[in-house]
Parts: sequence; C-alpha cells; structure tokens
Amino acid sequence: MEEVILLKMGETVLKGLNRRSFEARFLRNLKNSLNPIGPFDISISQSTVYASPAEDGVDMDAAFRAAKRVFGAVAVSRAAVCAKDVDAIFNTAKEYLRPELMSVNSFKVESKRADKTFPLTSIALSQEIGGRLQDVYPHLKPDMHHPEFQTDIEIRDTAAYIHARSHPGAGGMPVGSNGRAAVLLSGGIDSPVAAWMMAKRGLELICVHFASPPYTSERALDKVLKLAGILTEWTGPIGVFIVPFTQIQTAIRDSAPGPYNTVIMRRSMMRIASALAKQNHCGALITGESLGQVASQTMQAITITEDAAALPVFRPLIGMDKEEIVTLARKIETFETSILPYEDCCTVFTPQHPKTKPRLDETLTAEALINFAELESQAILDTEKQVIGI
Ligand code: ATP
Ligand code: MG
Repeated sequence: MEEVILLKMGETVLKGLNRRSFEARFLRNLKNSLNPIGPFDISISQSTVYASPAEDGVDMDAAFRAAKRVFGAVAVSRAAVCAKDVDAIFNTAKEYLRPELMSVNSFKVESKRADKTFPLTSIALSQEIGGRLQDVYPHLKPDMHHPEFQTDIEIRDTAAYIHARSHPGAGGMPVGSNGRAAVLLSGGIDSPVAAWMMAKRGLELICVHFASPPYTSERALDKVLKLAGILTEWTGPIGVFIVPFTQIQTAIRDSAPGPYNTVIMRRSMMRIASALAKQNHCGALITGESLGQVASQTMQAITITEDAAALPVFRPLIGMDKEEIVTLARKIETFETSILPYEDCCTVFTPQHPKTKPRLDETLTAEALINFAELESQAILDTEKQVIGI
C-alpha cells in the first residue's frame, strides 16, 4: 500500500516575513533526515508538508520515527494513498485503519475536498465511508463530538489520502534557523538535555568536550560520542571538539587553593569553549547547569564562571529540577547512556570542599599563579574534531 508522511508546521507559520526561510530550512532538514532511509519527494501546501517515498520498499516505520524528530513540526501523521474512487477509498481505509479501528469503540470520518470535481460532497463521502466501515467493524459507534479516533479523508488533485492517527511532532523551530552555538558536552545527564532543548529552539550545534586522559578513559570518551550520536537524530551531523585538558587540570590541582579548583577549572573551560565557538562561527555557549545543583552551580559560582566566557551562556536547565531533567533525558533517549558509570574530568579532580560562594578577586589571584594563556592556546591547538552522524 502506498503511504505518505504528513507534517504540520508549527510556530514557524507565525513568523511573518521569515516564514519562507523557516520553511526552506525545515524542508532541507527533513530531507537530510529522511535521506539515509530512502529517497523522498517532499512538497508543502498550506503549512502541511508531504513526504512521499520515491521508490518501493522504503522503511516507512523508520521514516516516521525520523520525521517525528525534525524540529519545526507540531504534528506528524501517516496516510495511505489511493485512487479517488469511493470503493478504492473504502477498501484502503478498511485495511489501513484496522489497528486503530480495532482498538477504539467510537470513531468519526471527516472529509476534505481540494478537488471540487469529486462526485460526492465532503459530508456524503464521510457518511458513505463511515457507514461502510461500521458494517465491517460492528463494535464501532459513530461519535461526531468526542470520537476516540477520527480519520480524515482528503481528496487532493492527484489522489485520495486516508489519515491514520496524528502524533505529536518534535515542536520548536528548524535546527539552524536561529544560528549556531557550542554546547559543553560532558558524559552526564544534564548537558545532552540542554543541547536538545537549544536545538529545539532552532540552534545548530557543535559540541566541546574536555577529556583528561589517562585520568578519563577511552570508554568515557566513547560515551560522549555516543551521546552526540543520539543528539544527531534530532539535529543532523554534529562536529565534536575534544579538548585535551589533562595539563590544565594538573596545573590547577598543583597550584590553586583546593576550594577554588572547581571554579578556576570551569573558567578555563569557558575561555577555551569561547575560542573554539568563535572559530566555528557560534554565537553562544550552552551548558547543563541548574541553579544550586552542586557547589559550582550556586549563583556566585555561576557569576564567576560566566565572567570568563566571551559569549553569552545559555543554560536552559537553570530552573529545572533533576526529576524534570531526567524525564526529558528518558524522552530523548540519552538517559541510559548518560548513567553508564564512566568518569568525567570534573569528578576526577573535584576537591573535597569546593567553595560555594567564591569571590572574583580571590579567584583572579589564584588564577594568576598559572600560565593559562599558554596552556589554553596549546590545548586549543591540540583539540581534535570528529564529525558524528554522517
Ligand atoms: P552534566 O550532567 O551535564 O555532566 P553536571 O550536573 O554533572 O552536568 P557539572 O559537572 O558541574 O554538572 O558540569 C556543569 C556543566 O559543565 C555541564 O552540564 C556541561 O555543560 C559542562 N561540563 C562539565 N564537564 C564537562 C566536560 N568534561 N566537557 C565538556 N563540558 C563539561
Ligand atoms: Mg557532569
């Protein structure tokens, strides 16, 4: 049976003059995400995007899953395509909608005609198909007001479309429509969720990861790359920049007063990430910080950390509870990978009692003991890039 995927554009519809470029971006992102699955013809009409497989045998379940991960659509559904003929419509609906019709007790058929030459009116077509479906599925009761399931039959110029149940789309805005930012990606639960939230707001991402071999292992790095891989299902390919951080961390451990270690390390991360972000045309940094979650995420510590950043820092999780973050991590399927027990560079060198209310003057005095300019330039030069998701 021939099938198409339909995507209803969301917020982008409201964007006035930007609408065309948002739509173009959405169509491009959709095409890129369906491409690995098979060739699709993609068209748009009145804020609905139609993706039709251009050859037989395309895995439509995989395509549907991919379509639900493209930001910018509020609803995604599948429809069977058949000839514009009442018998063909009925026979197709009877088979195609079987799983839905068998799992509900009430239903409604709603018809729309783009092709006004079709011999039946919308109402007559709905009644005809609804009546015949009820003969085949006698447990069904028609319910015009609160049906458990509604199917839409669309008579378009080229064919008739019979819609299965609609699913929520990924929402948000097309990736890339709001520019590009660098996410500081650890192997933890929080930063992948932060990355996802900002991609949903239309940001294209690069990732910056700080690794401290041999204190952090190859497997810890693989975990981060795997998390980036999961994100690419929503964002398309992502460049991951792996910064060698061991020398900087050991210098901090050896020279800075213990309680200031963490904030000094985080400032160094901000400087390096800012430089890499600028080199790669990013307009902001993204972190997974949440107010008060740990000592380095108090208001004072965040203020001092931010002081070292050369770009705005977006912290989409700042007001969220851990529970809420975990719920999202499960939804986007990063959670199971995030909780694998490999070490992060932050945890390896964490002092016993980090300062919860660090002072900027004391931070700067402690920082002056270390030649950060040289260490950081070298770390940036030695940074390795891997592109994930192509
Ligand atoms: P996460 O779950 O994202 O690791 P966290 O609760 O463990 O966060 P921290 O370890 O204090 O918190 O890190 C705060 C933020 O700093 C992280 O969300 C991430 O954006 C960034 N970060 C921490 N460690 C690294 C790292 N090794 N590489 C890149 N960014 C990091
Ligand atoms: Mg962490």
